[in-house]
Amino acid sequence: MPELPEVETVRRGLESQIRGARILRVEARRPDLRIPLPPRFALRLVGRRVEEVARRAKYLLLHLDDGEILVIHLGMSGRLIVGPARRNVAPGKHEHVEFEFDNRQGVVFEDHRRFGLMTLVPGAEIDRHALFRHLGIEPLGPTFDGMVLARLLAGARTPIKAALLDQRRVVGVGNIYACEALFRAGISPRRLARTVAAVRADRLAAAIRSVLSEAIAAGGSSLRDYVQASGELGYFQHAWKVYGREGETCAHAGCAGRIRRIVQANRSTFYCPRCQT
Ligand SMILES: [Zn+2]
Repeated sequence: MPELPEVETVRRGLESQIRGARILRVEARRPDLRIPLPPRFALRLVGRRVEEVARRAKYLLLHLDDGEILVIHLGMSGRLIVGPARRNVAPGKHEHVEFEFDNRQGVVFEDHRRFGLMTLVPGAEIDRHALFRHLGIEPLGPTFDGMVLARLLAGARTPIKAALLDQRRVVGVGNIYACEALFRAGISPRRLARTVAAVRADRLAAAIRSVLSEAIAAGGSSLRDYVQASGELGYFQHAWKVYGREGETCAHAGCAGRIRRIVQANRSTFYCPRCQT
C-alpha cells in the first residue's frame, strides 16, 4: 500500500506535469471505484484547469478553477501513470479512468483491486467532508513537533505503535514508517502512548519527520522514471533499519541486540528490545 512518502512523490510528479493544464478529455470506464464516481463525472471535469496539486494525508487534491477539488486516493494497489496522452491505444483491463490535458499530457488511473477512489468536493467544504474531518495532524506540516505530539498522545492507553497508526492523531504514518521512527527515537513500540511525553515526544516527532522526509528525498530519484510514464509506485528501495529484519543485529552502534518481530493490532512490528525502551 502506498504510504505518505510515495503519495507525496506522486503529488510532485503530477504537479510538475499538469499544474496549470486544462482537462481536454476524461474517460471513466466504469461507474465506480471503491465508491461511485460523482454524477456526470467526466462532463464536470472537461474544460477545468488544474490550479494546484495538493495532498492531505494520503489523498491527492487537484484544485480546479471552478472551486471544486478532484480527490484521488490510490487505495491498496492504485497507481497513476503520467506521460504523453495516448490516443487509439486499447486500455488495459484495470485502467479505469484516463485524463488528457491541453499540454498533451495524460494521466491514467490503474487499480486492479479497486480500493482507490475519485470524487469531487467543493473546496470550501473539504475539511468538513466525511473523508477528511476525522483526520489528524500532518507530520510534515509546520506545526507538528514534540509538544503537539505529546498532547495528542496524552491519555492514550494503547501502545505507542498503535497510536501512531491511528489517523485521527497523526496522518500518514503507516506500519513501516512507524517501526522505523520508533527505532530511530529509541522508543519501544510496546510503551504506553501516554508515557511518550517531553523529551521522548521531541525525539519521536523529529524521528517521524526525518524518516518521512528521507523517504521522499529517496523518491525524488525515482520520480524521473515515474514522470516518464513507467508509473511504478511501490515502496522506495530503502535500507530499512528494523522493518523485515527479524533476527538481524541491531544497526545502532554499540548495541548487540537482535531485531524482534511481534504482532500488534494484527500488524507486524519490528524493533530492538535492547535499545528501544
Ligand atoms: Zn538495539
